[in-house]
Formats: sequence, structure tokens, C-alpha cells
Amino acid sequence: MSFYLTTAIDYVNSRPHLGTAYEKVTADVIARYKRLTGVETHFVMGNDEHSQNVYKRARDSGEDPLAYCDRMETVFRDVWSRLSVSFDDFIRTTEPRHKAGVQRLVQACRAAGDVYDGVYEGWYCVSCEAFKQEKDLEDGKCAVHLTQPEWIREKNYFFRLSRYQRPLLDYYAAHPEFIQPEVRRNEILRLVEAGLEDISISRAGQSWGIPLPFDGSSVVYVWFDALINYASAVGYGTDDEQFARWWPADLHVIGKDITRFHCVVWPAMLLSAGLGLPKQVFGHGWVHFKGQKMSKSLGTVVDPLDAADRLGADPLRLYLVKEIPYGGDGDFSWERFEERYNVDLANNLGNLVSRITSMAEKYRGLQVAPTALGPGRLAEVATDVLAAYIDAMERFALHEGAFAAFRLVDATNEYIAESAPWALARNPADAERLSQVLYDVAEALRIAAVLLQPVMPSASGEILRRAGETRDVSELRLARDAAWVADVPRTLVKGANLWPRLEPGRPDTTATATTATTETPVPNTPDWKPNAPAPEAPLADRPAESAGIDVPAPHAATTASAQPETALAPGHHQPATMPGSQVPDGERLSIDEFMKVELRVARILTAERVAKSKKLMKLWVDLGYEQRTVVAGIGAAYEPEQLVGRTIVIVANLKPAKLMGIESNGMILAASSDDGRPMLLSVEEGAQPGMKVR
Ligand SMILES: [Zn+2]
Repeated sequence: MSFYLTTAIDYVNSRPHLGTAYEKVTADVIARYKRLTGVETHFVMGNDEHSQNVYKRARDSGEDPLAYCDRMETVFRDVWSRLSVSFDDFIRTTEPRHKAGVQRLVQACRAAGDVYDGVYEGWYCVSCEAFKQEKDLEDGKCAVHLTQPEWIREKNYFFRLSRYQRPLLDYYAAHPEFIQPEVRRNEILRLVEAGLEDISISRAGQSWGIPLPFDGSSVVYVWFDALINYASAVGYGTDDEQFARWWPADLHVIGKDITRFHCVVWPAMLLSAGLGLPKQVFGHGWVHFKGQKMSKSLGTVVDPLDAADRLGADPLRLYLVKEIPYGGDGDFSWERFEERYNVDLANNLGNLVSRITSMAEKYRGLQVAPTALGPGRLAEVATDVLAAYIDAMERFALHEGAFAAFRLVDATNEYIAESAPWALARNPADAERLSQVLYDVAEALRIAAVLLQPVMPSASGEILRRAGETRDVSELRLARDAAWVADVPRTLVKGANLWPRLEPGRPDTTATATTATTETPVPNTPDWKPNAPAPEAPLADRPAESAGIDVPAPHAATTASAQPETALAPGHHQPATMPGSQVPDGERLSIDEFMKVELRVARILTAERVAKSKKLMKLWVDLGYEQRTVVAGIGAAYEPEQLVGRTIVIVANLKPAKLMGIESNGMILAASSDDGRPMLLSVEEGAQPGMKVR
């Protein structure tokens, strides 16, 4: 089993921005996942250097173009290294191995009768490095750059792309998985069905590029040149043995704007040259900055190193993978980045690491060992999560994979709350039970860390070390090491807080570029946590009865489906972490505990009754950054048409629960009258979906 994947190679006329980093990070997650499953993986990235923009840029700064490219290679490699991008090879299109591959492939196309010479006359956008047809222009300007294209007339060589319409359509039909996601596939199908024109593949009178093997006065057009890197990087033109070993590529990860080149032009070139076609092309979406396209002129370009410097490379990787559905567009803002850091890492995963190591130290001298009682329910959750994780990752639904891993983290934190190790520790009769609980929690944490390894390689390694894993992370294999181990005692390791919580309301969170050292996370201070609980026993983790709240596992799927009619009746299922008048003095929540509950403004877009239920209403709500289904027990008090358009408050970070077979992703806040009639909470006009409520 082997897997060869690539990303697009980058123009070097500017340093990588967050959108570029998004592509490399997500491809890296796929590469690391494949390695974790034991598949021999070859991951190639590189730089696209034969661009006229690069040439001009270098010349403008009085630099030799190649020296400029050398310098930029260092810049790019530095960024990728700091983001833990683990490519196996890095190709530059000025390398001799690439030149050999390009010349061989162009020659092969010519031998197949697919290259002919003619005169090209038409529009050319220098910034796109692409010829433009009249229909592509807006008011005579490039639709992308809003600049006037040049009218050029020169001798060109053409590639008979028109000849490949039928073979391409046949290939798409025989390999429906070739273009992902589906929306991209449909675009390409429509494009090819409409007919293909031959394309120019050379530029005359230029020196910066790879000369055509049969006409030294022309160089290969930069796009034709660049695509060939995927083959030349694995030996095409220089090392037939290596090429036979890795080709065809298993996956090209690219941006959705260049699917035409990768799904139409590139496979046609390969067909012409008699080479195998890549198995899959994945066109990912854009990362916007606060809803706007990242653009230098708009000042919306985020430097990935600023983000990594601020909170760490792993938190940035987690954000990019988990917050953006892979294949769709997503958004980045400093506020949201910090918020996710606090919620997922400081409060959730980091807190779990601190709690289990502290409890293990306090109660068992850091030794956790299984008992004759056998594993509790966490073992089942871990098994379910592993299956969901593999299913998601195999489909490249990377965000779902990350969510699955966090489902296990959530369940483990809940399990600590439920089983209350600090209470067990007070009773000698519970000693065995305490040992088993500690073992189970450590084991669940260990598995979560294995699952998160592709996304957060450094942090995962550190968590595994603390969870008693003694092998090197590179030796771990998913099937074996993400399975529940019921019988191996481990020695846990204590360490510093992995992700100190950020202070709320820190100034200047919206600024873009700032230097690293001034923006490191601010650790907890006594001011912020006046009643900071001992790490092993936060107040919210006390037994539910003593906190006066009657639902210990309020949104666990099992509870919800067992009681579909009442599970969401307002007033009876607030999470145990919600403050309330029933909480007796001395059992109050810390602000940290309360802040774990993510309350947000939402707008109801549609509402319909759930079949066979008097109370349940299925709502489709807008959270600004996403839309989702929430099932609410408000059907006895409201008609669907009374609900549509209302602005409400929901708990946005509940785990999904199934109610009458429908997955609910959140809970609506409502007051409850004495007779149990729910009354929705409204918010003032002007509140926008997604706004945080606190
Ligand atoms: Zn353009």
C-alpha cells in the first residue's frame, strides 16, 4: 500500500498567506493520517518559479531571478517547517530534474500528434499568466485582477486539447471519485461537455522558462510547465524506477480556482503522453478573513506565522481543519481563533490533560492500572469514535475527523464529572473503582491524542508522553494504537499547562500583523479565577445531585433518545455547568466553568413539526458562520409559522443528540412557566446571528 499526494506548487512572488497555508496544512493532515494508518506515503510540495511575475519582481529589485527564487525557497520552507508541514520532497521548477520531465512530456505529446504550431493572437493577463477569451473579460478587464489584459500576437505551439473531450468525459464517468468534492465535479463536467478548445503551450521570445525541445526560441508556458512537476518530482524524465513506483498520483490537493487545469488540461496531457491519470483531485475552498477575500489591497491578508506565533502552530492547524468544512469555504478572524483556542484547547483538551495527571499523581502516584472491574462506558465511546474518525478521514472530511476526536475528549471530561474520582477517593471501599476510572480516563485521553496526531502533531506527541506512551509517535499505527487497551498499566507524566487560557477582552485582538513575542498567550491570573478550583475537582464536576441539578448527562444521545418527548423540555435539561438559582451557596460555578457554555444568537430559518411528536419541533437555524438543525421541545406552545424569522439564543456547543431519529445540534433557551409551557427568550432587534451571549 502506498499513497502519493501533492499540493499545488506556489508562485514565489510573495510570501505564503493563510490561504496558501490552509492548503499545505490540510494536505499535511491527509499525509500524516495515511502514515498513521501504515500506508507508505510520499508527500510532495514545491515552488513554481517560471512565472513572468517572478521574473519581473526579481528584475525590479535588481536581483538575478534564480537567486531571488533561492531566497524565496528559504522563506517558504521556513513557513512550512514552522507549521509542521511534513512533506517528503520539495520540488522547484528550475531544477534540472523538472526540466528533463517537462521536455520529455512535451516531446511525447508532440510525438502523439498533439502539438502543432500556429499564431496566437488575443488577450493575456500577466497577473493570471493566462490567455483570456473575450467572454472571460469584464468591461474589457481581467475579472480576477480588474486590470487591462495585453493584446499579444506571437508564434505559439498549441496542444490539441479539443481531441480529449470524449476521453475525458469517459474517464470522469468511469471514475466518479476523480474530482472532489461533488460541486467541483459538476462544474468540470459542464465545462467539458460544452466543448474544449486547443490551448497555447508556449511563449515566444522569453528567456525565463524551459525551452521547447524542438524550438529553442520558445519556452514552455508556465502552466503547462508547472503541472508536470507532479510527474517530474517522482522521477519522470530522470528516474524510471522511481516513477513506476509512485505514479499515478493518488491525490492532488488544489484550490477550487484551478480545477480546470488539474481536471481537464493535466489529464489530457497525460493521456496524450501515454501516462496514467491521477486517481483523485480535491479542490478545497477559500479561507476568508472576517467574511472578505484575503487581499493585499483590502488589508485582509493574514500571515500564517503571525497566527502560529500568537497561539501556536497546533492551535492554528486545529482551527483550519476543524472550523472549515473541507471542500467548502471558511472564515478566519482573530477573535474566533482565540475563542476556539479557549474552548477546544484551554478549557477542554488541555484541562483534561491537567486533570487526569493531577488526579493520577494525587491518588495513585502517577501509576494507572486496570482492575478486575473492567473498562467503563468510555471504552465503547472510544470504539464508536474511532469508527467515525476513520470513516471521515477516508472521505477527506477532515473537519468531521477532528470533531470525532473531540467527541471523545468531551465524553472523557463528562465521565470524570459523572464518576467523581475525588468522591471515590474519600471512601476506601471505592479504591478499585477509583483505579479503574483513572485508568479509563487516561486510556481515553491516549486514544484521543492518537486521533489528533495528524492535526496537532506536536501537542499530540506531548499528550501521549504524559499519558504514559513510551514509543515514538512515528511508530504508532491507527488500527492497533487507537483501539482500547484494557490491560496495560501506565505511568503518567506531569507537565506544565499546555494551553493557558486567554484573558477575555485583551486589547488589539483584531490587528493583523504583529510580532511574535508581544502576543504570546497570557497565562491565568488570580484576578481572572478568583475561586480557581483544584484542577482535579472543579465545582461543576461535583455530583449532579449535590449541585441541585437533576440531569447528570443532559445531552448524551442515550438520555435524549430514551426520553424524546421530555428531553428538550425547557427548564429540565440545562447542562450541569449552567448557573441557576437552585445551585446552593458554596457550590457556585467559576466563571471558567460558565464560559464553557457557548451561548449564541441564532435566527430561525425554517420550522416544522417532528412527525409523531406533539412537542418536538425541527428548526433550521442560522448562526452566522454556519446553519444547523436544532430539535426543540416547544411544539405545544408554538406553531411553526410563529417561529420562522425569530431571533433567539441557543447553546451552540452541545454534542449532537438524536431525538426521534433527528440529530439536534444545540439547545434553544426558553423560560418555563409553572405548567411547563416554554417561552422563548428573545433578543433585541439588531442582534446578528452568531453573536456571543454572556
Ligand atoms: Zn488576471
